[in-house]
Amino acid sequence: MTALTKVVIVGAGPAGVRAAQMLVRNGLRPTVLDEASRWGGQIYRQPPLNFERSKKTLYGFDAARAESIHSTMNGLLAHVDYQPDTLVWNAEGGQLDVLRQGQTATVPYTHLILATGATDRVLPLPGWTVPGVFSLGGSQVALKFQGCAIGQRVVLMGTGPLLYLIAYQYAKAGAVVAAMLDTAKLTDQIVALPAMLQQPTVLAKGLYYVGWLHSHGVPLHSGVQPVRVLGESRVSGVVWRDGQGEQTVACDAIGIGYGLRSETQLADILGCRFYFDDLQRCWLPERDDVGRASVSGLYLAGDGAGILGADAAEWAGERAALALVADTGGRLAPKDSARALMLDAKLAQSRRFRIGLERAFPFPVHWAAQAPDDLVICRCEEITAGDLRRTAQATGTVEMNRLKALSRVGMGRCQGRICGVAAAEILAHCTGQTIQAVGRLRGQAPVKPIPFTVSEPPALGESP
Ligand SMILES: Cc1cc2nc3c(=O)[nH]c(=O)nc-3n(C[C@H](O)[C@H](O)[C@H](O)COP(=O)(O)OP(=O)(O)OC[C@H]3O[C@@H](n4cnc5c(N)ncnc54)[C@H](O)[C@@H]3O)c2cc1C
Repeated sequence: MTALTKVVIVGAGPAGVRAAQMLVRNGLRPTVLDEASRWGGQIYRQPPLNFERSKKTLYGFDAARAESIHSTMNGLLAHVDYQPDTLVWNAEGGQLDVLRQGQTATVPYTHLILATGATDRVLPLPGWTVPGVFSLGGSQVALKFQGCAIGQRVVLMGTGPLLYLIAYQYAKAGAVVAAMLDTAKLTDQIVALPAMLQQPTVLAKGLYYVGWLHSHGVPLHSGVQPVRVLGESRVSGVVWRDGQGEQTVACDAIGIGYGLRSETQLADILGCRFYFDDLQRCWLPERDDVGRASVSGLYLAGDGAGILGADAAEWAGERAALALVADTGGRLAPKDSARALMLDAKLAQSRRFRIGLERAFPFPVHWAAQAPDDLVICRCEEITAGDLRRTAQATGTVEMNRLKALSRVGMGRCQGRICGVAAAEILAHCTGQTIQAVGRLRGQAPVKPIPFTVSEPPALGESP
């Protein structure tokens, strides 16, 4: 480690905070960049400063862990260069381009830890562009960050552990959860139980949510096939199918999510090698067991390099920081060497638990076969499933980036972050290929929308 070592961490969620803590403990002063205005990441997202709600109300069973992450970062502020409200929109070897409060800047680094987390994995259904349809995570952000529900009568649908958690949080907060619709079957969850016993506390929390929802009369339906959203100017209901035929439930808002997808664009732009992860059905940047990426000086921690959950994100953040310290010639304290071994064991256990979760809430692999031609896949460019199929068939396109060039799918504001998963499923299905064979949309800067022009902030007393 030399005086020239300049470490930057992108992300102040559980992974980024624990990485910063470990670096500081080993004598480094990292820069921590986060586009959010307060640290905590997704799970421990903090409300605006003027909101006062107890951690117990906000985070339930996770209140103590939230407190630990929040107070750890608070204690680190004097020892790190923390820059909130700072979006990293581009990266080149040794330099990050950022947008902070409307101003652009560059941040140099010699070593970089990407702890960029994840977003919802969304699969469209007819009517999903009607006002009142949210992503599942977005529904939770409304509750956690702003203290409001997305509607008065809400349906939550898709699959994954967050589905049950958010249904519980909504019902507990007093919203009417008109139905919770899971595309996974009860038998999927039963088969997955042995693997999920790897983390009995997490499993127990999940079972508690299910029991609570049942005992409070929230209608839970498993093994469903979502059919369409009803409503013209606003959601008025949702239709789904199960063993008993087609059913309808009235609601004024819907949250949809099928698990999470890692935010991998910065790793992509920086030239990391990717591999196809069969378990999570997606492309992920390679990292070794301690978090080193395939690019020298770059480390990956937390859900941004594969979904493992919040506890594992903390462990991975610490572990990547320890690897970085060792790689830069730093000497680990004996207690940190022992800790590295413990973290390795915990991360291995999380990976085994993840196998159970993926079995319990499998991706609905038949979704593309059932998607009608007029279903909008790319909201930004208004591209339908039929447009994609016709483009693929007329041009012989078998690969995602070619499909993007020819159809404009993924070229809008979301840059494929929302529509990329669904578009790849459609292409794979209509060309008779595996999802792996169609490849992935390459990351492009800016990774998230930035303004065309950057204006000077108005002077005090001047109206904007
Ligand atoms: C909306 C949502 C809600 C969730 N709620 C729960 C929950 O209630 N319970 C649960 O167990 N799990 C939840 N999860 C999963 C959980 O968030 C993760 O397992 C955990 O937070 C991962 O921690 P992390 O540090 O890897 O990433 P995160 O906590 O996601 O933190 C990543 C941080 O990186 C920042 N960032 C990302 N990209 C950039 C960029 N380009 N420039 C600057 N900053 C950037 C983000 O602002 C964020 O603060 C949720 C996930 C999502 C997407």
